[in-house]
Amino acid sequence: AYVDGRLTPLRDAHVHVEDRGLQFADALYEVTAVLNGKMLDWPHHIARLRRNCAALFIDFAMSDAALTLQARRLIAVNGQADALLYLQLSRGTAKRDHGFPANPRPTLVMTVRRFDFHQRTAQQKTGVKVITVNDMRWRRVDMKTTGLLANVLAKQDARAAGAFEAWLVAPDNTVREGGSTNAYIVKAGRLITHPLSESILPGIARATLLRLAREAQIPIDERPFSLAEALAADEALLTSTTAPLLPVVRIDENAIGTGSPGPMASRLAALVSAEITAQTGW
Ligand code: PLP
Repeated sequence: AYVDGRLTPLRDAHVHVEDRGLQFADALYEVTAVLNGKMLDWPHHIARLRRNCAALFIDFAMSDAALTLQARRLIAVNGQADALLYLQLSRGTAKRDHGFPANPRPTLVMTVRRFDFHQRTAQQKTGVKVITVNDMRWRRVDMKTTGLLANVLAKQDARAAGAFEAWLVAPDNTVREGGSTNAYIVKAGRLITHPLSESILPGIARATLLRLAREAQIPIDERPFSLAEALAADEALLTSTTAPLLPVVRIDENAIGTGSPGPMASRLAALVSAEITAQTGW
């Protein structure tokens, strides 16, 4: 792990009990895929982190070059070819008080943990099941903060139901996104996904998918879609750093389309996988 300037074995990696990340979830995070030892879409993760720092007034002085160097060093020392790089940046450590401390010094921690992306290749063939739950999160989920309790509960419901993901449904019955993934449906050859707003996380994998779809001249509608529309869709899918593209074949107890991965999911999966190979050789 990397903790506040030092590399240390994971078992010795600690933050202070008064770290504001711990006490208030006053912290941002990023999860980046490492494939063949190379970080996927790293500049986009840094850019999102910087945007969130600005939104939360976290003064993170480390340069992009220094951050990249530290991340690369950690990946190299860790030695795993396929892994997830987890980065967490809190406002810092201070005596507990809700308002910002006078001169906060942000705490940066990073870990690299082995991750098996091959399991996703198998899931791409079969497709995955999702359940639906009410979206109980706060109103600024576009910021990637560690305040994830509503997501944790949703993902646990999914796990208990034997599903891969829980789709978070708004009071007006629109599907926002998954507990840790972005959500899409396909109808009459069009790819439909919730527009960027304060009520979804702007996924890096989402941006990649939409760019690749646009380049392939697949029509895209960035608009809210209802749960009823999702149940009547031809196909459904999800994306994230840890699941670059998975077909969704069941929502709650309903089969979507034929109940097997459809042609759009296969086409998009091929585009995504070519992009990953181009960037990392994986
Ligand atoms: N939506 C939520 C709520 C998430 O937590 C995540 C990732 O953790 C995503 C979407 C996907 O984002 P990305 O593609 O950047 O991994």
